[in-house]
Parts: sequence; C-alpha cells; structure tokens
Amino acid sequence: MQLRKFLHRGVFAEIALVTIVLGACSHSLQPRASTSGEHVSTASPMRVSMNSRMTTTPVPILMYHYVEPHDDAKEPHAAGLFVSPDIFEEQLQWIVAHGYQTIDLDTYLQLRSHAINEPKKPVILTFDDGYADAFQNALPILQKYHLRGVFYIVSGFLGKPGYLTDNQVIALRDAGMMIAGHTVSHVDLRSLSAKELRHQLEGSRKELETFIGAPVIHFAYPSGRYNQRVIDMVAMFEYKTAVTTHHGIAGTRDPLFQLPRVRMTKTTNLAALLP
Ligand SMILES: [Zn+2]
Repeated sequence: MQLRKFLHRGVFAEIALVTIVLGACSHSLQPRASTSGEHVSTASPMRVSMNSRMTTTPVPILMYHYVEPHDDAKEPHAAGLFVSPDIFEEQLQWIVAHGYQTIDLDTYLQLRSHAINEPKKPVILTFDDGYADAFQNALPILQKYHLRGVFYIVSGFLGKPGYLTDNQVIALRDAGMMIAGHTVSHVDLRSLSAKELRHQLEGSRKELETFIGAPVIHFAYPSGRYNQRVIDMVAMFEYKTAVTTHHGIAGTRDPLFQLPRVRMTKTTNLAALLP
C-alpha cells in the first residue's frame, strides 16, 4: 500500500472518523430525524430551510472512498476506507438484483420537491476525494451495470499522485457520472476565515465548472466536519445539497445540507441496511 495517499491531514481525520462511525453503526437504520436545534441557534440571512412537510421515500446514499485492494493487516486503521474491485462489483450486483435504481443528486432534489414521480427503490452511489481508482476501477464496473455515481472531487489534489487528473474527471462526466465539490484542499472548514471559506467553496466549484463545463452544485464536507456557519456559506456559494458522514438513510426530514450516508466497507451487509 502506498503511504503517500495518506499524507493529507484531512484524510487522516477521515480515517479517525472511520473508527468512530463504524463503532456507532450498530443501531438499526431508520431515516434520521431532523437535527433542528443542533445547528440552528444563530440567525443568518443565508439560513437554509431545514424541513419539508411532504414525504418522500427515504433514499440510501452509499459512501465509498477507495475502490482498490488493501492490506488490512498492514494498515488496519484505514480498512474502513477500502472496498476491493471484486467486492465493489458484488455490492453493485446485489443492488441491481434487488431492483434498485441509481439516481444522482439533481434527481434527488426533484424528488424532494415532488417535481417528478418517485423511481422504484432509488439509491445514490457517492465516491469521496477523487482518487485515481475512481476512474481506473469504479467507473468500468459502474458502466458494466449501467449505474451512475456521484464523485466528490478535491480540486487542489487533481493530477497529484494517486488522484484523478482533469482529463479523467472529464471522462467520468462524459460517462454520465455527476461531478461534485469537496473543497480545494480537504481542510476542516469550521476553522476558516470568510475569505478562506470562499476559496475552498467557491474557488473549487468554479475550477471544476471551468474544465467540466457543467454546474457543480452538490457538496461533501471534508471528513464530515461542519457547523451552521459552514452550512450557510455552502448555500451562499450556490451549492444545493451537502452530504455528511452521519450514518443513516436520507429521509424527507433530513436537511438538504446535512444528508446522512451509509459508509460502505467490504463487510457491509446491504440486505440488512437498505429499505
Ligand atoms: Zn473526503
């Protein structure tokens, strides 16, 4: 395993979170209740609507990081971030065999606003950080089963060893995949000045939009870290949804900027998790 892939502070934090999240995942999976009160204590002109009164079928948002083999014995702390291509394919086969349809977050927004009829058994596949294996391993398997994914790209890592290149991101887009934002450098957004937040949120969005030629309006918080100020800035810089690392299946009452996900590992039992 190449240690260089773990040299980013944000990714280290994500590894630490794996332990916490996996440890907290034993409760039964129900659509999360709204966390109103947790992040709504301050007034702001960019306040984001937290609730919808109409109901929509809960939508599982599955969270992948690396789709490549991993030596768990050598690096047990990172095991939760890896799914091998073989296991990934088995998981996709299960999804297809059980009648799920992959949608992207634009379609999810339409579902939430009741602009379209609900597809049967919708599911969203997400891939964080923009690792090179997204193109090399995940994309061919997604295409084999005619499935779509959402790729959260760290714009400042593009072209670095182990990460996607600009052209690979364009190839993902051309294959029908959704490209989404994950900041410039995978920093903890809670500690940044307004200027730095603009750079991380608007700067990365504009850079991605420039070379893929399409709007980038969906976002993932690096290492799942955010607060109300970060939520309001993400909305101000024209994103329409944001996913977290909270464990759960996204229901109608989950705020669009605090969508929970299901962390996928090589041992995830989809039959026990999905509705
Ligand atoms: Zn990340």
